[in-house]
Amino acid sequence: MSIKNVSFFKSVERNFDKAAHFTGLPKGLLEQIKACNAVYQMHFPVRINGEYQVIEAYRVQHSHHRMPTKGGIRYSMSVDQDEVMALAALMTYKCALVDVPFGGAKGGVKIDPKRYTDYQLERITRRYTTELVHRNFIGPGIDVPAPDYGTSSREMAWIYDTYQTLKNGELDAAACVTGKPITLNGIRGRTEATGRGVFYGIREMLSIEEDMQKIGIAKGIAGKRIVIQGLGNVGSYTGLICQNEGDARIIAVAEYEGAIYNEHGLDMAALIQHRKDTGTIMTFSGGKPLENRQVALELDCDILIPAALENQITSENAPRIKAKIIVEAANGPVTADANDYLVKKGVIIVPDMYINAGGVTVSYFEWLKNLSHVRFGRMEKRFEHNAFEKLVNAVEKYTGKTIDAREKLILTKGADEIDLVNSGLEETMITAYHTIRDTWKANPKIEDMRTAGFVSAIGKVGSDYMNLGIFP
Ligand code: GLU
Repeated sequence: MSIKNVSFFKSVERNFDKAAHFTGLPKGLLEQIKACNAVYQMHFPVRINGEYQVIEAYRVQHSHHRMPTKGGIRYSMSVDQDEVMALAALMTYKCALVDVPFGGAKGGVKIDPKRYTDYQLERITRRYTTELVHRNFIGPGIDVPAPDYGTSSREMAWIYDTYQTLKNGELDAAACVTGKPITLNGIRGRTEATGRGVFYGIREMLSIEEDMQKIGIAKGIAGKRIVIQGLGNVGSYTGLICQNEGDARIIAVAEYEGAIYNEHGLDMAALIQHRKDTGTIMTFSGGKPLENRQVALELDCDILIPAALENQITSENAPRIKAKIIVEAANGPVTADANDYLVKKGVIIVPDMYINAGGVTVSYFEWLKNLSHVRFGRMEKRFEHNAFEKLVNAVEKYTGKTIDAREKLILTKGADEIDLVNSGLEETMITAYHTIRDTWKANPKIEDMRTAGFVSAIGKVGSDYMNLGIFP
């Protein structure tokens, strides 16, 4: 069957089918796992500059095998039912893979946020939330949105406030949405979580010598030449953290307005600041402009990180891709046909459902924090500090040596919320990487990492259904 021009959702289904037969689950159960459980399409009016505009929007709950369902809300002109269904399905497999106990969902509002004022965006967001509340499509135990392409903590704050207004007195209202500002019941580390998770995943993968030898690159992330497409939240933090904590070299960055290159590595912090100040990367003095944004994807590099939107690497440009590893920081950036072509060529594609799962992982921590009504670390930080201090004092006493004051401070620090969040995220990304790797190794017929990820995820969702007794 030709797989060119298939829809995004069909492409996710196709990846599912490729993996399904490795799971040994019955056909009916596989069909249930694959299907989208609930699709809510809405149209609502919002008054913009004195005139009514009808806004098209969606919320899709792909799987109710675990509740609540979970997934971001995107604001983009590319939003349609197919896209939201595909992204909701990916959320199900993503959550299963990293053991986040939610079903998958996604929301979309078909607007170009750049064409609205902040006030207008607030009105659209509040109205969308009201629609969700009225149809019972949002709530701490029902469906919990989060940021995605075109939205941020600001929109989440509006969603939370609208929900709280309509559900006055609901004790756990803060858990109705994640990715909120820290001052509004958010959690430290959520903003950078997806990028940080991408870093932990890449670092883990590159630390396995045996696997790196097979594709002819040296072990370790330090010094690796990386190209990033997209300087939104995910691309920015991925670049910053890979550079600062992994010593990787970001040799090129592509954005909407074009692409820039520097073989010695772009200073990511300065570049991000420059774009904030001037609105473009093209005038950044630390790099030279490339002829267009597309050629950045085709540069010779170790790791290519598409961190923008879906369908960026297609059968058209795949033959010109030179990267040895493609890391899908965005959702669905490599089309199914491009995937097959590149895998045959020996390129490793680290799938979206694993590598960008850091966002939803820390969303899960935020949800737990909201339900427990207490900041992580509040109870134990001082206790830990005191215990470490006793230990350090004992070491000094019995060795007769003095530990200097600065070092003592580092050694005796109790864990803060950010330390615990990052530690939980690191553990999640490393464990999930080995789950996929072990699944792949256990079955040599599996062709790529994506299929291995699907096999593991489908197995987990399937076993939930079995345990529920729906498919005994
Ligand atoms: N939008 C993000 C994703 O695609 C985060 C979802 C969430 O935190 O619920 O994974």
